[in-house]
Amino acid sequence: MSARIGVTLLGSTGSIGVSTLDVLRRHADGFRVVALTAHRDVEGLFQQCVEFDPAYAVMADVDAAEHLRDRLQAAGRAVEVLAGMTGLEQVAALPETGYVMAAIVGAAGLLPTLAAARAGKRVLLANKEALVMAGPLFMAAVHEYGAELLPIDSEHNAVFQCLPSHFMTAGLDAVGVRRILLTGSGGPFRTTPLEFLSAVTLDQACAHPNWRMGRKISVDSATMMNKGLEVIEAHWLFGAPPSRIEVVVHPQSVIHSMVEYEDGSVLAQLGNPDMRTPIAHALAWPQRLASGVAFLDFTRLAPLEFQEPDLVRFPCLRLAFAALEVGGTAPTILNAANEVAVQAFLEQRIRFTAIAAVVRHTLEQVSTHAVASLEAILAADALARATATEWIIAQTSEV
Ligand code: NAD
Ligand code: MG
Repeated sequence: MSARIGVTLLGSTGSIGVSTLDVLRRHADGFRVVALTAHRDVEGLFQQCVEFDPAYAVMADVDAAEHLRDRLQAAGRAVEVLAGMTGLEQVAALPETGYVMAAIVGAAGLLPTLAAARAGKRVLLANKEALVMAGPLFMAAVHEYGAELLPIDSEHNAVFQCLPSHFMTAGLDAVGVRRILLTGSGGPFRTTPLEFLSAVTLDQACAHPNWRMGRKISVDSATMMNKGLEVIEAHWLFGAPPSRIEVVVHPQSVIHSMVEYEDGSVLAQLGNPDMRTPIAHALAWPQRLASGVAFLDFTRLAPLEFQEPDLVRFPCLRLAFAALEVGGTAPTILNAANEVAVQAFLEQRIRFTAIAAVVRHTLEQVSTHAVASLEAILAADALARATATEWIIAQTSEV
């Protein structure tokens, strides 16, 4: 019984959270759910608590936590309900938790994910924004506190699988890596005539051809900012300079990414586009677990295509590479401006093509500093958000 590994799920009601619970449901003999968390979806978290019987449940929203507490009490469930950021940080660091799935979307996930790293947990990282905004600090915490960092993002999980395990201590040169090739589908607007992009709707932007995901990452995939964030994520996870990270558009999403070696070998990881594969990989590593994902049938695959990304169509990808080159808090600013812009697009306050304009303007306006501390990161994040918000208001009140 006690040999089961305790798991905390940060963001359990989201797309990654639900996929994680599906894998855990298949392996109740190996894992037990210690804590579940959500923003304010009381009903969703209640249902998950009833099924998985965690010791703790956290709602980021204080009123929602109150409702959940009442709901669980009325149902006779002994789940301790916590609230807010301190509650999230607390369940990320519980002694009975071995693994933490970091699947909160956006900057809201930084502090709890950092708390898991500082508690030396195995961190299953889906929340790429946390690493983008605080790369040096986060990686330092992982090393200092002996956390195990396993990528859930399908591309990074693929790269991780294509690298020898000692790359983490030896570095890419020592293991003969020449380049990391991140694949990306190109999203729903890969072939849309450029002049139509400014008028695309929310539903069109969220209709990803190959993956079902939360709304924020779906919009990021449509602008290819998602790939830009992933380039920065790859830089920190694998210690790769930007010149050795290449983006390859691959519309079928069958190859999840590749590693090119000095001798001309290229190793790729393939599979159906279903996040339960990287989730099962990271839960089981270095073993393997059944994930429930259908196996690839090569005789039925569409032909695999590869293209160079079009940086005119996808200016966000260029902005992300540029922010990584600048370094310091530039990726923090890029991420914050993008979150504000995507939120405005989701609320139909700005056009699709304005997302890149907001990010570009914010990067130009907010000066970059070295990443000296968590406070410096949070200050850069706040300033970028204010700048982006102000500009959106000014632009939208002009018309
Ligand atoms: P989602 O929107 O479906 O779920 C987000 C989760 O975070 C929910 O449980 C929500 O309650 C919680 N949350 C949202 N705002 C919060 C806040 N302010 N405080 C606390 N909790 C909050 O998102 P998703 O698609 O599951 O993505 C989660 C993360 O995983 C993102 O960083 C995304 O980039 C990354 N990711 C997702 C996929 C995918 O297939 N969905 C693939 C790769 C990476
Ligand atoms: Mg990805």
